Amino acid sequence: MPPVVRFAPSPTGFLHIGGVHTALFNWLFARHEGGEFRLRIENTDTNREVDTATEQIQESLSWLGLDWDGELTFQLDRMERCREEAQRLVAEDRAYEDEGAIRMRMPDEGTTAWDDLIRGGIEWENERLDDLVIVRADGRPTYNFASPIEDWLDGITHVLRGDDHVSNTPKQIQILQSLSAPLPEYGHLANILGPDGKKLSKRHGATSVEEFREQGYIPEALVNFLALLGWSYDDKTTVMSRDELVERFTLDRVGASPAVFDFQKLDWLNGVYLRELPSGEYADRLLGYLREQGYEWDEELVRKAAPLVQEKIATLAEFPAFAGFFFGAVEPDAALLDGAVLEHAEQSLADLEPFTAESIEQSLRVLAERLELKPREAFQPIRVAVTGSKISPGLFESIELLGRERTLERIRRAREAGA
Ligand code: GLU
Repeated sequence: MPPVVRFAPSPTGFLHIGGVHTALFNWLFARHEGGEFRLRIENTDTNREVDTATEQIQESLSWLGLDWDGELTFQLDRMERCREEAQRLVAEDRAYEDEGAIRMRMPDEGTTAWDDLIRGGIEWENERLDDLVIVRADGRPTYNFASPIEDWLDGITHVLRGDDHVSNTPKQIQILQSLSAPLPEYGHLANILGPDGKKLSKRHGATSVEEFREQGYIPEALVNFLALLGWSYDDKTTVMSRDELVERFTLDRVGASPAVFDFQKLDWLNGVYLRELPSGEYADRLLGYLREQGYEWDEELVRKAAPLVQEKIATLAEFPAFAGFFFGAVEPDAALLDGAVLEHAEQSLADLEPFTAESIEQSLRVLAERLELKPREAFQPIRVAVTGSKISPGLFESIELLGRERTLERIRRAREAGA
């Protein structure tokens, strides 16, 4: 029977990267096995407005390409059914009323055990389980009661979730057994740690999908990166497409120890994916990103600038600083300019025909020779004058794209600025 799994976030804000990691492993498992991946919003414990959070969750999953099967469901819609099941337990004397709430009796002796898909055999001493509130005095079922009931109603076969839920599992097993419901298999995924070995948090950098998106990471890189947190294919393969991940993902290669979130590796991987994009697609991504971030830059110029940066930047967010000089004025640091070089550059470029990267390079090399400078020494003040920075896309291509008029204007300005 193909598995049915679910991702069950609480709608409390942006989707944390730990949650996305759980979602991804569920999704990969479901897709690998030809099963189903459901999305369920666990809003039993939330009184807050959930609409925005629910939208953000869906938006983030869609952006990552983690599609879910069937309709999104809300735990709150199952409250009536949960209350009925609680009443049944009361009628069977498995639960009792206590100051208006309903508590389920937990065994005092023995153990509750399960064979965890990730962590192996786990045994829980029942004396550690207190009689559990399953419906609050105000009539609201608790998370620990509603969640396993939903797993049962939805035919969930495998519950894969974060290991902060290990202590909930014996309670949920007891509940399902009392209801004579089938038990899913349980697997608890290890935490994700920051580079300092502490639980990943804001201190370490971005922690929500939204933030990674804003920082110019692309979904295929993020998915590939997250898949490798706690899972490996063969201990050496790093770059894997979505299809390869689906084809290769198995739970027996998911580790039980916490994985460390290596931000540098993510940057590297993002760069790999960006460089591999076909050039038109690359320009589309760049444009999409710039629009999202509120830049209203000329589309055609972005498309023309794209090939000049594709090999050079690791995130889309680097584009505005790296190539912004095509779109707006620059403020070169006068200390990095050189009057003699700029004067000659102005003369060389003024009548150059054709005004192409190749001829620009030739004429600037001749200029360096004439001034008896190393090419690098001669090019730097020109680069600074034209791009506003010591670091830029290729100088000759940049000058060609900027065009003669704007280039000469910038060189003149720089000269006036006291070079
Ligand atoms: N709503 C829980 C959470 O966000 C998930 C519980 C579960 O997967 O069973 O951590």
